[in-house]
Amino acid sequence: MNLLTLCGIVKTMAEGQASPADEPVRQRSLRTHNLGLVLRLVAASPQPVSRADVAAATGLTKATVSTLVDELLAGSLLVEVEPAPRAGAGRPAVGLRLAAQGPAGLGLEINVDYLAACVVDLTGAIRLHEIRRADQRGRPPDAVLDDIAGLAADAVEAATAEGLLVAGTALAVPGLVANGVVRLAPNLDWRDVDVLTALLSRSPLAALALTVDTVTVDNEANLAALGELHAWAEADPAAARASFLYISGEIGVGAGIVLGGRLFRGARGFGGELGHVTIRPDGPHCRCGARGCLEAYANQEALLRDADVATDDLASDAALTRLAALAGAGAHPARMALEAAGSALGVAAADVVNLLDVDTVVLGGIYAPLAPWLAEPVLREISDRVMTAAWAPVTVRPSVLGPSATVVGAAGSVVRAIRDAPTTWLEGPARVG
Ligand SMILES: [Zn+2]
Repeated sequence: MNLLTLCGIVKTMAEGQASPADEPVRQRSLRTHNLGLVLRLVAASPQPVSRADVAAATGLTKATVSTLVDELLAGSLLVEVEPAPRAGAGRPAVGLRLAAQGPAGLGLEINVDYLAACVVDLTGAIRLHEIRRADQRGRPPDAVLDDIAGLAADAVEAATAEGLLVAGTALAVPGLVANGVVRLAPNLDWRDVDVLTALLSRSPLAALALTVDTVTVDNEANLAALGELHAWAEADPAAARASFLYISGEIGVGAGIVLGGRLFRGARGFGGELGHVTIRPDGPHCRCGARGCLEAYANQEALLRDADVATDDLASDAALTRLAALAGAGAHPARMALEAAGSALGVAAADVVNLLDVDTVVLGGIYAPLAPWLAEPVLREISDRVMTAAWAPVTVRPSVLGPSATVVGAAGSVVRAIRDAPTTWLEGPARVG
């Protein structure tokens, strides 16, 4: 590993990465800070790095680095790898990299027409991904929570069999969430459902010694946007400071807003409800109680209906595959439906760009595979409606994580929390208790 490159990584981390853990700290927090610093430095490096490299890049003494590395090795956060044979004088140093068999994140997703689970290891690799398609509308919340707990049980068992230890879980729901309570999920018809308590009490999560700190419930678009951000940052550390609007398309339409590498939640945590931005004040009634919301013009049901794709005998994923095939073949109703939905999405996205000056709009969820037909009308509306578009262009692109961004992002958020603050794992109940 080139020392200049490593130093560059440290500089990038210090300049603007999302982690507040990179900021200066008091003496008592020094160990915590430095453990995170070393872990993130190893994580950011594309090749294994030696202890001497870490010392040189961070300015820490070699003895301090060795102590920290030993702790991270003992906590299954790092592993040592055999050094590559090298020409010239000197003994090659043992390299360090993130442990693929240590702690892992469990992502769970409750959506309107499916449930999903995903396990991501510390390196960010997806180790398991399971989707069970079934309409959840009209089901009692307890029955849905039982099913998602069952899916979690299977995922934990599979992860354990692979030598992983589930360190935490994040559950994504299509609604407004505050302190683990789903205040409103219009498409599920849920109000004030205490999902966090329900999840913590259900096996196998109760048996994992997970605490409130390591079990989170969040809006699905927020977790998808975080997943997108982290995927970009893995590929390019500078992208850790990105600003974008992530639009999540399902039966509901939502958004995650990322500004300067941080998720913008709004003052009360309820920001990002793009699906309920008004497209036409006198439009059709929406499940939220208002009229003419974006969701009515661009959600999965509107797209399939307007494209004349019969959904009676098809699962939603098969219906969407058929929609894409029809659009690819040039079928007029499919093309018109995508044009109309893309235009509505563009009108709403243009408002966000005008307000927040994000430079990228990400098409996620069902919109990702449909981006070949949606991106153009979205971009056209943005170009027509955003005052600054002529000299501050906006990019419209599909999500790099595709339709799975939410559940992958959920699992990744657990892993990212460990990488940002490894002592929560090293001293947590899953490790010591
Ligand atoms: Zn609405």
